[in-house]
Amino acid sequence: MSVSCENMAAKEFTVDLNKPLVFQMLTRTVSWVVPVVWLPVAFYFIGISYTMGLALLLVAMLSVLGAFVWTFLEYCFHRFLFHIDTKSYWGNTFHYLIHGYHRKHPMDDLRLVIPPLEAALVIVMFWYLCRVLFSVSTGSVLLGGGLAGYVIYDTTHYYLHYSHPTNQSLKILKKYHMNHHFRIQNKDFGVTTKLWDRVFETFPKIKAADKTG
Ligand SMILES: [Zn+2]
Ligand SMILES: [Zn+2]
Repeated sequence: MSVSCENMAAKEFTVDLNKPLVFQMLTRTVSWVVPVVWLPVAFYFIGISYTMGLALLLVAMLSVLGAFVWTFLEYCFHRFLFHIDTKSYWGNTFHYLIHGYHRKHPMDDLRLVIPPLEAALVIVMFWYLCRVLFSVSTGSVLLGGGLAGYVIYDTTHYYLHYSHPTNQSLKILKKYHMNHHFRIQNKDFGVTTKLWDRVFETFPKIKAADKTG
């Protein structure tokens, strides 16, 4: 059976504040902003580690590691933060500003990617974490790789909503993500990979290809 995304409202989301203008501005972002803003920053951080003397192969390997770590963060953010259960006005507002805008309006192309201001706050936080845990050269490349992973995540997310992929892997990713929005919101938290859904058993026991359109 196929499901028309446009005709279905996202469920289990109770907040509709008819947001003030400032909320509208904070949650509306054109998708191309994500790669345009963040890819140069990612390459800048990766470049720092190379200019500080890390071997090119090591830079490449740590970049990939950073992107891999991002896939785990992607899962954790989505499962534990983006779907946080809030009740109060300010709790609901917080939820709306971090992910609720996309849950409430899943097919609004201006409410699909993470606004740069919001992303910047998280990136700065992770920069300080990297500085605590690693040397500047290692922390830079891990952050750069993670940031590249984030860009891949958000552009893939946009692509899954608005494309009609012919590639089988992308087709499956799209079906599972639509399944997450319109059928089972407590499953399918991974967008770019289903790895962590399988590890943490949030992979739905359905044949997504048969259930969603
Ligand atoms: Zn979600
Ligand atoms: Zn989505």
